[in-house]
Amino acid sequence: MAAGSGAVPCRVNRISGKRQMRVQSMSKYNDDYMITMDDIVREGDPILRKVLDEVNMPPTEEDKAELRCMLQFLKNSQDPEIAGKCNLRAGVGLSANQIGLNKRMFAVYIADEDGEKAYTVFNPKLVSHSISMIYLPQGEGCLSVDRKVDGFVPRYERIKVKAYDLDGNEVLIKLKGYPAIVFQHEMDHLNGIMFYDHINKDNPFALPANTDIRSVYE
Ligand SMILES: [Zn+2]
Repeated sequence: MAAGSGAVPCRVNRISGKRQMRVQSMSKYNDDYMITMDDIVREGDPILRKVLDEVNMPPTEEDKAELRCMLQFLKNSQDPEIAGKCNLRAGVGLSANQIGLNKRMFAVYIADEDGEKAYTVFNPKLVSHSISMIYLPQGEGCLSVDRKVDGFVPRYERIKVKAYDLDGNEVLIKLKGYPAIVFQHEMDHLNGIMFYDHINKDNPFALPANTDIRSVYE
């Protein structure tokens, strides 16, 4: 999920404080690699419409490094200095297929007045949700969508998600409000669904009838 713009390669590399063990890896997304907008898959690429494969648990070092790399991208994208230098569009969520990987995993990073929330999850499953729904009044954005798409995207107000963390431990994540919206946006990516698939085709600002739905900021 996103808000911003840009697209110029960046040569800034993170300096890791501790020496990393060299792990045999086929993936370029490792702890020494910095994801830029050049790596972000844009709409039209079939991988964004694919139902992605589950990741075998426990995750491999490669899986874990990729997910850490994805989280680091989100943090960088929200750091004004790094984002400015590297032309990163600010993002709060990134799924694996958005960098070309066929794996059910995503990262979320939300920093606001409530503090900092960072998630890196494998194989998330929605176990329950509220009846009530919410939407972002400004609409949703996506790092893979380089255009403004108007319309309301109805999301569950509260969700419970079962997933595996970076260590391969099963976790139950309870979310409400904005973080719940971001999670639903990213979980959709793992199933090949784009946010605008949820927008009413006849009237993009129509809200589902007979449903308790309101702006997330109300
Ligand atoms: Zn997205």
